[in-house]
Amino acid sequence: MVRIGATLHRVQAGGEQTTRSRGRVETLPSGSLRVSVYAGTDPVTKRRHYLREVVPAGPKAPKEAQKVLRRLANQIDERQNPRTAATVDQLLDHYFEVLDRDASTMTTYARYSDKHIRPLIGTVKVGRLDGDVFDRFYAELRRCRAHCDRKPHVDHRTSRAHECDHRCRAHACKPLAASTVRQIHFILSGALKRAVRWRWLPSNPIDFAEPPAAPKPNPTPPSPDEAARILAEAWKDPEWGLLVWLVMVTGLRRGELCSIRWSDLDLERGSLMLARSISQRGRNRWEKDTKSHQHRRLALDPRSVELLQAHRARCESYARAIEAELSTDAFVFSRAPDGSTHLVPDSVSQRYAKLAARLGVKTTIHKLRHYSATELILGESVQTLGCAGSGQPLQDARTAPGRVRGSMRDGVAAAARAQGHAELVGVTGDVGR
Ligand SMILES: [Zn+2]
Ligand SMILES: [Zn+2]
Repeated sequence: MVRIGATLHRVQAGGEQTTRSRGRVETLPSGSLRVSVYAGTDPVTKRRHYLREVVPAGPKAPKEAQKVLRRLANQIDERQNPRTAATVDQLLDHYFEVLDRDASTMTTYARYSDKHIRPLIGTVKVGRLDGDVFDRFYAELRRCRAHCDRKPHVDHRTSRAHECDHRCRAHACKPLAASTVRQIHFILSGALKRAVRWRWLPSNPIDFAEPPAAPKPNPTPPSPDEAARILAEAWKDPEWGLLVWLVMVTGLRRGELCSIRWSDLDLERGSLMLARSISQRGRNRWEKDTKSHQHRRLALDPRSVELLQAHRARCESYARAIEAELSTDAFVFSRAPDGSTHLVPDSVSQRYAKLAARLGVKTTIHKLRHYSATELILGESVQTLGCAGSGQPLQDARTAPGRVRGSMRDGVAAAARAQGHAELVGVTGDVGR
C-alpha cells in the first residue's frame, strides 16, 4: 500500500520551518498596493510561495492593504494550524452518518472509500488537504487500482489458503476507470463541503483538485445486420428472445426489465408502467424505485404487445404444468415456472455476452439499449430480418411451450414436475446456459 499521507507530512514539515516572516506591502507604479504574504515552500516546485493580492489606489488603500495582509496571514495560519485535527477517515465517518441516500448509493460510497480513499489518504488531516495532495491521490488511482507497492507479486485467486493454479497470475497494474475516479471525487467533494459547513475548514480544498474529465458516452450499437443475427439467435428461446427484443424496442435497462411484473403491463392498452428496478451488488439483490424516482408509462408497439400476449399464454401453461397459478404479481421474465422469482441483471448480461461472442459480435447488452428507436422501429423491421436469419419465423415465439426447446423455464418446469416443485419454485435462478 502506498500512503500518500506519509509523503505529505514530509513535504509539509519542510514547508513549516520558514513561515515566520509575515507579509509586506509594495506600492506599484500605478499607485495600487500589492500585498504579499509568504506561504511556505511550494511542495511541487520547491520554490518560495506567496499569496498576493492587489489593492486599487485610493485614500483608503493603505488601511485596506493592512486588512488584506491580516486576512492572507490568517488564511496561511489556518492552513498550517487547522481548526480541527480531524483526519479524512474521521470526516468520512461523520459524513456517512448524516448522508441520506438510498442503500445502493451508500454501499457504493462505502466501498469506494474503504478500497481507495481511506487506505491512501485516510490518515491525512483534513486541514492539510490541498491541490498537491489531490494531484498525487488521483495520480495513484490512475497508476494502479490495487495501490500496489510496485514490487512484482502474484495476484492470488483467493485470500484463503489454496493451491495456486492458472488463476493466480503475476500482478499487472491497471488504472482505476476514469468514471470511478470521478465518483471518488464526488464523495470527497460532498464530504468536504460538509466540513466547511461544520466550520472544520475555512474553504473547500477540493476546489484545487482536478478530477479526470467525464468520459464521453460512446454507445456504439450493433449494426442492423448484427442486431438481426443477435435477435434471431436469441429467439431460439422465445422468452429470452422477447427480453432481447424489448431491450431493443424500449431501451429499458436490464434491471428494469428484470423487475417487470404482469401487473405492470396493460396489454389491452399496450402500455407498461415502470416503477421499479432490480439492483444487484455481488450476491445481494433488491428491488428499488426506478432511477428517476418517478413512475414511467411506456407505450408498447403492437408487435411487442402481440409477443407479450403469446408469452403470457406460455407462462400460464408453465404454471399449469406445476399445478400453480400465475399470480398478477408474477414476474414477466423468470426461471420459476410460476414466475415467482425475477431474473438476475448480471446473468442477463452474461447470457447476452455469450450469445454475442458465439456470433462474433463485439457488444454488450447496454449498447443494445442505444440501438432502439431510430434504427429499429423506423427501419425495415428487424423482425423480418430476425426471422430470415434464423430460418425460424417469428411465429415460433407464439408456439405452445411444449414445442419450444431450450426455454429458460423448461428445465425448471421439468425438474419441478419430476421432484415436486416446492423447493424449486422458490429459486431465484440466473438465466442459465
Ligand atoms: Zn494462488
Ligand atoms: Zn499494481
